[in-house]
Amino acid sequence: AASGEESDVVVIGGGPGGYVAAIKAAQMGLKTTCIEKRGTLGGTCLNVGCIPSKAAAQPGSDLHPRPMKSCSWGRCLCQALLHSSHMYHEAKSSFAHHGVKFSNLEIDLPAMMAQKDKAVAGLTKGIEGLFKKNKVDYVKGFGKFVSPSEVSVDLIDGGSTTVKGKNIIIATGSDVKSLPGVTIDEKKIVSSTGALALQEIPKKLVVIGAGYIGLEMGSVWNRLGSEVTVVEFAPDIVPSMDGEIRKQFQRMLEKQKMKFMLKTKVVGVDTSGSGVKLTVEPAAGGEQSVLDADIVLVSAGRTPYTAGLGLDTIGVEMDKGGRILVDKRFMTNVNGVYAIGDAIPGPMLAHKAEEDGVACVEFIAGKEGHVDYDTVPGVVYTHPEVASVGKTEEQVKASGIAYQVGKFPLMANSRAKAIDDAEGLVKVVAEKETDRVLGVHIMAPNAGEIIHEAVLALQYGASSEDIARTCHAHPTVSEALKEACLQTYTKAIHI
Ligand code: FAD
Repeated sequence: AASGEESDVVVIGGGPGGYVAAIKAAQMGLKTTCIEKRGTLGGTCLNVGCIPSKAAAQPGSDLHPRPMKSCSWGRCLCQALLHSSHMYHEAKSSFAHHGVKFSNLEIDLPAMMAQKDKAVAGLTKGIEGLFKKNKVDYVKGFGKFVSPSEVSVDLIDGGSTTVKGKNIIIATGSDVKSLPGVTIDEKKIVSSTGALALQEIPKKLVVIGAGYIGLEMGSVWNRLGSEVTVVEFAPDIVPSMDGEIRKQFQRMLEKQKMKFMLKTKVVGVDTSGSGVKLTVEPAAGGEQSVLDADIVLVSAGRTPYTAGLGLDTIGVEMDKGGRILVDKRFMTNVNGVYAIGDAIPGPMLAHKAEEDGVACVEFIAGKEGHVDYDTVPGVVYTHPEVASVGKTEEQVKASGIAYQVGKFPLMANSRAKAIDDAEGLVKVVAEKETDRVLGVHIMAPNAGEIIHEAVLALQYGASSEDIARTCHAHPTVSEALKEACLQTYTKAIHI
């Protein structure tokens, strides 16, 4: 992408929204350039754990510092740690039930990280390979609008260039939202980035914010031996979750020894000692108390990242929350300038960003694009996982639609019982008159995989009877969804 050459599509940001848009555009025969400031592709999703050095720890043992090689694939790092810590937890607490006994169970954190590094390296290189294969020009540097069709780039290797595009897609994603009075130093007060890269297992971890990222990260360190307390201003954890599922979810996390302080606000932070002293008080005001922590994770949401992009120069409109406003074709108020992913309104999820990217490019190419935000699934990767799509029972009730609910407990599912992993339930909300599925909520092992059957059902306007009359393989946890659907209009067989 030398100065002066014009691309059909220029994408600013190489996260899941941006890199997918770039590949799709190239596949559609459009000359495409992608600008990314980090030097690695994959965005927040891939790079959150970018830390030059790191220490390993074993619970109850001395710490063993280790160098950490590469920039990490944040989400996979998170996934890798969730999986690895789950394996440790299983070995510690469940193997004996299954007749598998051993002595000297230890965490080898360097090995845990090495396996993650290997996965990361493969995945990151994979995207660069896809860029090459599809002939996407990759410019490593910070992009800034100088006009609606020109982006100047401060190159990572020094110098600058100008990239011209007939169409420019803003895919600059999001950043950690800060909390007033709580300064993130990524040492004692960390964001999710720092929490993925702690140098030792904290004895006491306080998580501020009970959203899915805070709970996932809390789960990781809880399984590895930290005492975890979650402080949340709202009366509930994960507010977007169906109320009934949420209650069971919180009970399950409490059973795993995570503590919750809901309706609680943080009013002071003192990092002057060896740890952190966090002063909290009831959200409505009242008596203050002090929580001791080795590490505090601030997980109070994310905010669109558009700093230094020059949006004011070209006059792009944003809402009060800093999200870029777009029309149904993902075009901003400036002709030829589009925006996708975390930078625009809608769920801040990688798969939503990817769908935005594909649809946006289809519109640019003069075709039709489509993203239905009502059928974007959400998954919390704890154990068991919690996955949902569509409306919660509370939302359906509030909309005034007459509805029916079908539920099936995992305790009655043969596969879940066989593998001794029967905590959870499946809940289906369907319109009373038509039986059309409006929402599905699953707390189960592998709920994040099972949910896609429900996503497809919602996408195609299926009824719960459609799902119930579909043959499901036995024994699978997916049968619990079929039985929950049976419950909406007749009776489940196994309860
Ligand atoms: P981003 O991934 O934020 O990418 C934007 C890119 O643009 C960045 O690489 C940035 O460096 C680059 N950029 C910004 N400004 C410029 C500029 N001016 N010039 C050049 N480059 C620029 N989502 C899920 O769906 N599932 C999960 O399990 C999940 N887990 C998560 C766990 C954590 C800890 C976090 C923090 C997020 C998680 N998310 C998850 C959310 C997910 O990462 C985001 O929704 C997704 O990355 C958004 O994609 P994006 O392409 O819009 O933006």
